[in-house]
Amino acid sequence: MKYLSTRGGAPAREFCDILLGGLAPDGGLYLPEAYPRVSRVELDAWRALPYAELALAVLSKFIGDIPREELRTIVARTYTAQAYRHCRPGRDAAEITPLTTLEPGLHLLELSNGPTLAFKDMAMQLLGNLFEHVLEQRGETLNILGATSGDTGSSAEYAMRGKQRLKVFMLSPHGLMSEFQRAQMYSLPDANIFNIAVRGMFDDCQDIVKAVAGDAAFKARHRIGAVNSINWARVAAQVVYYFKGYFAASRDNGEEVAFAVPSGNFGNICAGHIARMMGLPVARLVLATNENDVLDEFFRSGVYRPRGAAETRVTSSPSMDISKASNFERFAFDLAGRDAATVRRWWSQVDAGGGFDLRGTPYLARLAEYRFVSGSSSHADRLATIRAAWRDYGVLIDPHTADGLKVALAERESSVPMVVLETAQPVKFAATIREALGREPPRPAELEGLEALPQRVEVMEADAAAVKAYVAARA
Ligand SMILES: *Cc1c(COP(=O)(O)O)cnc(C)c1O
Repeated sequence: MKYLSTRGGAPAREFCDILLGGLAPDGGLYLPEAYPRVSRVELDAWRALPYAELALAVLSKFIGDIPREELRTIVARTYTAQAYRHCRPGRDAAEITPLTTLEPGLHLLELSNGPTLAFKDMAMQLLGNLFEHVLEQRGETLNILGATSGDTGSSAEYAMRGKQRLKVFMLSPHGLMSEFQRAQMYSLPDANIFNIAVRGMFDDCQDIVKAVAGDAAFKARHRIGAVNSINWARVAAQVVYYFKGYFAASRDNGEEVAFAVPSGNFGNICAGHIARMMGLPVARLVLATNENDVLDEFFRSGVYRPRGAAETRVTSSPSMDISKASNFERFAFDLAGRDAATVRRWWSQVDAGGGFDLRGTPYLARLAEYRFVSGSSSHADRLATIRAAWRDYGVLIDPHTADGLKVALAERESSVPMVVLETAQPVKFAATIREALGREPPRPAELEGLEALPQRVEVMEADAAAVKAYVAARA
């Protein structure tokens, strides 16, 4: 399996080669040359597999340069009941992503049972073990530079902490994460973890990471790698739970299942798109945004108009406060019929501060074939949905999952099971839960007192040069 760039200007590479980098050298994102197809026979054989074996089956279609037995070991070490133990009472942690039925035909897929209580652990835990494997094999070291609006950073740090050949430099928007999220990241004592709080928004952090990654000389000299959602391995790892969720919500492989996905950088739902391209019988993919509704606007109108950091609103589902979805380029590449010249043209407009308009073009027909629908959610919607889920189903959900459930309820078709992806646990966003329900969300006993631990963080201006200097001195 070879990978190519969405901008068409980079040589085809193997999985392990693109694993350690971020963007392709031409500024594009890597995608498989062609999506692997899953036959009906394979689908039937996969239905009963435990999570780790399903992950091996799916991932070995994407990874041609790690021997299968080694990949099996890596995957088995990653997807353990112990690592994903924070499931709801009565659910089976060995399922890794247990399905909770709210009412007939409406389900939650629990993706946030890992160490940092957000769905990012699903991919990041695997990434940590893949990095370790490849660096060990090659005798190399790597410095991860990342940007986080909250959940990516802690997930990356928990996945990489204490690993010999890795350091993590994580940028986060100063003062904008929840107290719990800050405590999770900044309290890690590991010497290979560096937290940088940037005076700005998440998009500023992401722009700095892009600026550094765009400096090829700096990147090579300091062996800079990425764990942001542009990292292909993360998207690939996320494909697995669409299969798992599909099997859990259907009786046989003739049925279709819809998925509702709280979205920000378009990484999670991009994996759903890829699962469908592989042949998984996915009905609608329901994209949910919060007040930052660039993607909702696109799927409703065919106009993609990303906004700058200054226009991004701070909301109560902060991990979705994104106005320039980095993974969207992967989807656009498929939409363009995999024509890199078209993607280059669209992104030259995006990079110049504009966007693109598909109205009146043939691309709109393909967009319709892909069967996305979308909606957005406000703070009031979020509170109402958290209350309704608690009242009607006795299930406590976090604000991001509430955005997903709100749009899922609006877009549900009566004959098609709907799976809402649960992307975080309520305890990470306790203030909003208190506002909605007047009660404290439960927290795992082992995380009692987290906020009282000593914290390590460097506050800096939104300045790529300053961040480079900091990294260069420590990498
Ligand atoms: C990252 C995140 C999202 C958005 O996922 P994308 O892959 O960026 O679309 C939604 N909810 C939570 C809790 C997250 O951490």
